Amino acid sequence: MIELKTDGELAAMRTAGQVVAAVLAAVEQAAAVGVRLLDLDEVARGVLAGRGAKSSFLHYLPAFAPTPFPAVICASVNDAVVHGIPDNTRLADGDLVSIDFGANIDGWHGDAAVSFVVGEPRSADLALIATARRALDAAIATMLPGERLGDIAHAVGAIGRAAGYGIPADFGGHGIGRAMHEAPAVPNEGTPGRGLRLRAGMVLAIEPMFHAGGRDDYRMAGNGWALHTLDGSRAAHVEHTVAITDNGPRVLTLP
Ligand code: MG
Repeated sequence: MIELKTDGELAAMRTAGQVVAAVLAAVEQAAAVGVRLLDLDEVARGVLAGRGAKSSFLHYLPAFAPTPFPAVICASVNDAVVHGIPDNTRLADGDLVSIDFGANIDGWHGDAAVSFVVGEPRSADLALIATARRALDAAIATMLPGERLGDIAHAVGAIGRAAGYGIPADFGGHGIGRAMHEAPAVPNEGTPGRGLRLRAGMVLAIEPMFHAGGRDDYRMAGNGWALHTLDGSRAAHVEHTVAITDNGPRVLTLP
């Protein structure tokens, strides 16, 4: 079932989205060469507590995972695509870091992700990140009442493929509201004009993730959570929570 949110509920989700934006900004600000991934998780926990919000990720246990998620951020570095568990790894010069974060306030969730480089960036990494952001913007632009789920999916996939990047088929966006993951699933590739018709009040998390090496294959880390590109190439992941309204798409996780 797809729940349509009222204007009041969208306002509540915007409050959660602002916390998500504040946490991601603080984490990106703190990320630097030599900083541990667990230090970034601590930064996120601090902002979260200060805002009176709860983590959507901590102790989350989806069907595919062997253990509850142990942190409030996902920190996925270089060949890690998504769902990296923060540990004692220290960031190194030129690392490509993707941070995914979800928060809830009064039972309403927001979910977003950013990718960035610490230290001296490689131009290929900057291009990968810029392309993922462009795919996210293009997908958001399609989110109008009367359009189709396939239009969103196509917008993401077409931009990734045109750049020669790989796309992991089994992961993508999702509905979001009182639960972090609601129907429908939002694939990162699709056929325009096909699939579910978009309606005002739907809220979707859109999350392009691209593999620089051009292959779609991935492997699961030994911890059963982190996805890595199979060819070891770097990956980027960006995400926003977006409401479909009669006045156009409303990005709930902007600062
Ligand atoms: Mg998400």
